[in-house]
Amino acid sequence: MLPHFLESIVQLITRTSTDLPPDVRKAMGLALHAEEPATRAGQALTIIAQNIDQAASCEGPICQDTGMPTFEVKVPVGADQIWMKERMREAVAEATRRGKLRPNSVDSITGENSGDNLGPGTPIVHFEQWKKDEIEVKLILKGGGCENTNAQYALPADLDHLGRADRTLDGVRKCILHAVWKAQGKGCAPGAVGVCIGGDRTSGYLHAKEQLFRTLDDSNPDARLAAVEDAVMDAANQLTVGPMGFGGKTSLIGCKIGALNRLPASFFVSIAYDCWAFRRLGVTLDASSGAIASWLYRDGETASAPMLTPEQVAAGFPRTGREVRLRAPITDEQVRALKVGDVVLVSGRMFTGRDAVHAHLMKHDPPVDLRGGVLYHCGPVVAKTGEGNWRVTAAGPTTSIREEPYQADILKRYGVRVVIGKGGMGAKTLAGLKESGAVYLNAVGGAAQFYARCIDRVAGVSLMEFGTPEAMWHLDVTDFPAIVTMDAHGNSLHRDIEQASGAVLAEQRG
Ligand code: SF4
Repeated sequence: MLPHFLESIVQLITRTSTDLPPDVRKAMGLALHAEEPATRAGQALTIIAQNIDQAASCEGPICQDTGMPTFEVKVPVGADQIWMKERMREAVAEATRRGKLRPNSVDSITGENSGDNLGPGTPIVHFEQWKKDEIEVKLILKGGGCENTNAQYALPADLDHLGRADRTLDGVRKCILHAVWKAQGKGCAPGAVGVCIGGDRTSGYLHAKEQLFRTLDDSNPDARLAAVEDAVMDAANQLTVGPMGFGGKTSLIGCKIGALNRLPASFFVSIAYDCWAFRRLGVTLDASSGAIASWLYRDGETASAPMLTPEQVAAGFPRTGREVRLRAPITDEQVRALKVGDVVLVSGRMFTGRDAVHAHLMKHDPPVDLRGGVLYHCGPVVAKTGEGNWRVTAAGPTTSIREEPYQADILKRYGVRVVIGKGGMGAKTLAGLKESGAVYLNAVGGAAQFYARCIDRVAGVSLMEFGTPEAMWHLDVTDFPAIVTMDAHGNSLHRDIEQASGAVLAEQRG
């Protein structure tokens, strides 16, 4: 029975996780060439481009958050969907074992990680029958940072800066712009949005996510929706949110809108925001063997064209000569000398910590001395290479705002001097940085391969009972680049960009 089906799905997962499709590469290439290399946006996009190339060449995950695997499957009438779903679950577990997916499925009540990406609701598989005598499998891997920036509006609504959004296509346009503005850098901008007008609350979100299976450069066959897509792209890229929310020319690389009928009383606009690490591929399979017959979105035989030239790769991270070098442990004086906009190269020991570690530190002393230390919001992909030996294979920053309730207390209690993450943090943390003498550095979200190469060795691990992504990893790094976006003097680039882009948004009231 379909002897090649399992391995075909493993191949699909592997390629999707490690090699961006051509349409996304093209959009990111345009974004890169629109920026001056030495600007914050230019530096971020160069790191992203390097990361895309590195991931493809080593077949490593583009981003450490390999997301929620969502499969859309079309099968001939009579195909055994139960058998196929079982093999797809096996393929997900196998891809996890091979390090192409991070163990990402946790029990929602206990927080326990299943370790193999299997569990109730994971992976998501949707089947549909069709008349063709072949199988089509499409896959999207959408991570938590961008998933958390999804938005759903019930019209009519009053929106910040934009005023009233009515039950019209102009109201829809306003909702999409509002969602892009709200996302700022938290969903690893520049992103793409899939949108559904109508449906109910559940079908709306599903249909919005389905729009992300369209290519970025296609045209909507419905001229009315095509016009809204074009209007959104123009306006969103004037917002100056920019890559990672650093400010810049490209905030959105795609807008794809669908519509479902709705109840007369409801008018939902559902928005699925995907990040620049827009991992989406597909295959057609021979219906009798399960072997891959063709790739969708790409030519499966041809290697992806690199994002950067050999000269750009050799030049590496574009430096200005004004970078500040920091080596942990870091002093109060060093931290207070930093200001928003400084590019910092961190060396020495850093400790990872995300949701479970932060919650733990509110009730327990840390397992290591954090005074003068660097706390990295990161859930890495880690391969065990022997007893007590580990190698990090993907290690970009996770969304920091989730730690907002804890961060200021942790800074004060344990003397952490540097927090590294992405997307920025809020007013409580900003006040805490000032009070305790600490800074927040924004690393480039999704640049998991790039940052993994800054790690010299894994010196140890604590709190492993939380599972691999949530454990506290002790990492020795060299020249880990990030930008000061919140300093110890009460300044926040995130607050400034949000306000400035909000003023531009207000010009889109119509
Ligand atoms: S690129 Fe950013 S938003 Fe996307 S999956 Fe990675 S960390 Fe999450």
